Amino acid sequence: MQILDGLVVSQATKDELRLKVGQLTAAGKKVPHLAAVLVGSNGASETYVGSKVKTCEEIGYKSTLLRFPEDISEFKLLSAIQDLNNDPDIDGILVQLPLPKHISEAKVIETIDPSKDVDGFHPESAGKLVQGLPTFVSATPHGIMLMLEHYKIDTKGKHAVVIGRSNIVGRPMSILLSANTNPGNCTVTLCHSQTHNLKEICLQADIIVAALGRPEFVKADMVKEGAVVIDVGITRVPDASKKRGYSIKGDVDFANVSPKCSYITPVPGGVGPMTIAALMANTYRACMERN
Ligand code: NAP
Repeated sequence: MQILDGLVVSQATKDELRLKVGQLTAAGKKVPHLAAVLVGSNGASETYVGSKVKTCEEIGYKSTLLRFPEDISEFKLLSAIQDLNNDPDIDGILVQLPLPKHISEAKVIETIDPSKDVDGFHPESAGKLVQGLPTFVSATPHGIMLMLEHYKIDTKGKHAVVIGRSNIVGRPMSILLSANTNPGNCTVTLCHSQTHNLKEICLQADIIVAALGRPEFVKADMVKEGAVVIDVGITRVPDASKKRGYSIKGDVDFANVSPKCSYITPVPGGVGPMTIAALMANTYRACMERN
């Protein structure tokens, strides 16, 4: 069993980007500028946005963090996004989800200029992905593809089972794995909460991507010998033994599943760091295409 080390692969991606930014600076050109929008003070969202801004600094990007109170009106938030759309210095816009209930996430996502949609959530980006056209790919599935590529995992003709059909992880993952690309060319089964016989389907999988947000849901008796297992899940589970009061759990029962796998991602240190690296790659691309 080999660990797919998201820390190592994401570092390689970030090092490459830092080098390219150095070249831009040396040539007197504009460096990528990412704007992050945070509404309210959700602890997990604060952590995610904080890591993204910190990574921008590490690589040499500019970043702007816009913070708004929990009770900001939808109108004001949409206006702020329009301002970012109209600001020529901003290359990428990310709005940290989830948003408070009184704000339509769909409206917010649709307001982002598709040329700055580095999260790849805009319907135009998602539509292009389905048709195999060049576009921004949602950072988590994009990061997973970078990891499969880095470890030269043979995906051609394999049966991939994706658990979860969200617009940000499961569905784009299923499209990427089924595309005529390398990595890709899988036969994909997309599962969700209404799927019958999930265990039997998983047992047929050469590759499992677990993205359902149910801690340790994928058990050893659901995984065949030699499978590649990608664990996207991040759930905070109360844990009195930890100073912060919780521990982070993935969607896979790592201790019992890992001995059966050819490759597996740990949580933390697997998909999470790759998501940020992919977001940075998308932001670099946005800057190149816009300038
Ligand atoms: P989501 O929007 O809640 O979607 C969860 C999906 O899982 C839904 O399609 C749901 O089915 C399905 N599901 C739920 N329970 C199931 C069950 N018992 N059996 C089969 N399918 C089931 O979640 P998400 O945003 O995709 O995120 C999934 C997980 O990944 C979360 O833990 C999240 O924190 C994590 N995540 C991690 C990263 C990272 O960087 N590592 C990034 C994004 C998300 P229905 O459609 O039928 O409801």
